[in-house]
Amino acid sequence: MDFQLNDEQLQLKKSVREFAEREIAPNVMKWDEAGEFPLSTIQELGKLGLMGIVFPQEYGGAGMGYVEYVTAIEELSRVDGSVGIIVAAHTEAQKKKYLSKLASGEYIGAWGLTEPSSGSDAGSARMSARKTKNGWLLNGNKTFCTNGHYADVAVVIAVTDRAAHTHGLSAFIVEKGTQGFRPGKKENKLGLRASDTAELIFEDCLIPAENLLGRENDGFIDAMQVLDGGRISIAALSLGMAEGAYEAALKYSKQRRQFGKAISEFQAIQWKLADMATEIEAAKLLTFRAAAMKDSGMKTTLESSMAKLYASEVAVRCANEGVQIHGGYGFIKDYPAEKFYRDVKLCTIGEGTSEIQRLVIARQLLKD
Ligand SMILES: Cc1cc2nc3c(=O)[nH]c(=O)nc-3n(C[C@H](O)[C@H](O)[C@H](O)COP(=O)(O)OP(=O)(O)OC[C@H]3O[C@@H](n4cnc5c(N)ncnc54)[C@H](O)[C@@H]3O)c2cc1C
Repeated sequence: MDFQLNDEQLQLKKSVREFAEREIAPNVMKWDEAGEFPLSTIQELGKLGLMGIVFPQEYGGAGMGYVEYVTAIEELSRVDGSVGIIVAAHTEAQKKKYLSKLASGEYIGAWGLTEPSSGSDAGSARMSARKTKNGWLLNGNKTFCTNGHYADVAVVIAVTDRAAHTHGLSAFIVEKGTQGFRPGKKENKLGLRASDTAELIFEDCLIPAENLLGRENDGFIDAMQVLDGGRISIAALSLGMAEGAYEAALKYSKQRRQFGKAISEFQAIQWKLADMATEIEAAKLLTFRAAAMKDSGMKTTLESSMAKLYASEVAVRCANEGVQIHGGYGFIKDYPAEKFYRDVKLCTIGEGTSEIQRLVIARQLLKD
């Protein structure tokens, strides 16, 4: 059992960390306050190969695995969760035709499963796809789509056979600019404000027959497989933000003096730091175990959900304690604590809430 990253993985970690500290850290609050999507930074990440880490090399990807993918998202999210989620949402199921442009960062991808009336109960989606002699006719709305306004291609799940319920959903790829397709409301959010979260609107949108992804009526199975990987990426996003919040609190606790000593000398503060560091290590083990299992071709439904559930809840606890350790300054935008506190909450909601993760885990435990 090897708990160490190898030399290439350590090199990747170092270079992503340097990039994040050089190119992202100085802009984090500006992007956050303005709700500004960091398009040029995302394109730079594409040039470094970070927008297609797990894509095959023959399609312009880096041909690496989930361990590397988790490492990159962790390092980006340690500095800015918004950049982390943009990358995480981008690398979902896509069609070979688009992979090289997505890998280079020339194209940005989005994934639309959630609808206004179907979130946790994703199988009850209403958006319809009707087969016609000219292709598929899409009608309906997706909501809360990460990268929605900036996506050059979006994968959406729509109903192809209403009577078959979850066995009647299919996945489709839609290009930006297709007639009848437009992004709608841009959400004004509590956190991750530099990431774009938007509605996608389809009104008699005709797409070519070949834009069906995978097999007809396999869309729900496809979505669940995407989520097995996506939950690992949200675990990595959580892990990075938990580390960022912890490091900021550790640093501050050594600098801030009260009662004639650094607050890090108070046992109450030391115990918070000890709990944060311990829980982060546990979250890291779960996250990298799920990633390593995925890389070895194993099914990770249980492990992905455990990693996502635990890492996201640890991140929320760490961000909360991070603000507490900063005292009043934790509430002030001059310090990074308040932003981690706002950003992390998405992690217990996106790609399935904590309640849904527990449901998935229990279902796996009770299976046989
Ligand atoms: C910033 C952001 C980015 C997102 N990005 C994307 C994206 O790119 N693509 C995409 O498709 N979606 C995206 N989402 C949507 C996200 O996945 C959903 O918000 C999430 O799955 C929850 O769905 P909901 O909001 O409809 O909540 P609901 O499903 O209405 O849940 C409300 C509450 O009820 C609980 N609940 C529901 N069902 C059960 C149950 N059976 N047992 C116990 N409790 C239950 C939930 O846990 C929650 O606490 C994003 C959301 C946000 C906020």
